[in-house]
Amino acid sequence: MINLLDLEPAALDAFFAERGEKPFRARQVSRWVHQRFVDDVGAMTDIARPLRERLAAEAGIRGPRVLRDTTASDGTRKWLLDAGKGNAVEAVYIPEDDRGTLCISSQAGCALDCAFCSTGKQGFNRNLETGEIVGQLWHANRTLLMDGIRAPWVEAGRAPITNVVMMGMGEPLANFDHVVPALRLFLDDNAYGLSRRRVTLSTSGLVPWIDRLRDECPVALAVSLHAPTDALRDGLVPINRRHPLAELMAACRRYLDKAPRDFITFEYVMLDGVNDQPTHAHELVRLVRDVPCKINLIPFNPFPGSEFGTSPRERIRAFARTLQDAGIVATIRKTRGEDIDAACGQLAGQVQDRVKRRLAARIPLAVAR
Ligand code: SF4
Repeated sequence: MINLLDLEPAALDAFFAERGEKPFRARQVSRWVHQRFVDDVGAMTDIARPLRERLAAEAGIRGPRVLRDTTASDGTRKWLLDAGKGNAVEAVYIPEDDRGTLCISSQAGCALDCAFCSTGKQGFNRNLETGEIVGQLWHANRTLLMDGIRAPWVEAGRAPITNVVMMGMGEPLANFDHVVPALRLFLDDNAYGLSRRRVTLSTSGLVPWIDRLRDECPVALAVSLHAPTDALRDGLVPINRRHPLAELMAACRRYLDKAPRDFITFEYVMLDGVNDQPTHAHELVRLVRDVPCKINLIPFNPFPGSEFGTSPRERIRAFARTLQDAGIVATIRKTRGEDIDAACGQLAGQVQDRVKRRLAARIPLAVAR
């Protein structure tokens, strides 16, 4: 049975064309699924009954199965979703005054093994299918609406989720073939209709795939940097050994040719005594000198078994000031959902610890076109 959440716009068009139906049927069904969030073909009341019955025989709408649903005192809400065979992934809703952001996962686990990351510690399990990625957004919108969410844009007829960040579990560019169709649905006017500026993909730096994303589906780009030199980054973000910083910075500059925003966001997790010294701040200034960017400093959120500590608040502020004094836009991320372990991978890691599989076995070396 086909899951309609799996079909990107072109695939849904093809589905109806193969059955001799007019293209507008695809648009009609897309709006029922991705804008009205129905879970039953029978509910699509403006589609003639015979077609509905044929459609129901072949296709359905299968959203994620929720294992746990937790809301923090600050309103951050985390869904732990079944990914089969004892695996789980997380989607995190972050409410703010002027937007509703959903942080989406792209893989169950991750092979990249970043030293400070809870997801990396679980090893890689599998890539999520397009429908499982889209299903997170579908589920969040549907659930928040059913719960009667109050927000000005919802009262004006828009969906609760206004912004998507692909920053959950997994390296999205390592699951390119399922992530890009999902992005196309996020952007499509007959689906979620988000602007490219409101969809951010975060990567640890898979350079060939950054280029491919620029060519095929440019959205706002965030890069998990975390260190200003190759010597330090090689230890924190092991993919750096394959794609060192000079290569990564060049890819960022190329990306900006087609990016919907005129800057790259660099994420930099502040690890006590590791990457948070004044020399690191000055090295970072030199590194990003030629890349229009914003730098987001992230206080480290420790998890059981992590070897790192959180940088003291004053050191983070001093680091930010050094960047700002050099003319760089630098912000310190507010920590959200601390009482529900909302940092990437923390809850899923409690469900099942997986054996790590090594980096080299999992990361494609070249881009297949
Ligand atoms: S930080 Fe991202 S890329 Fe690195 S191990 Fe964690 S999920 Fe994977």
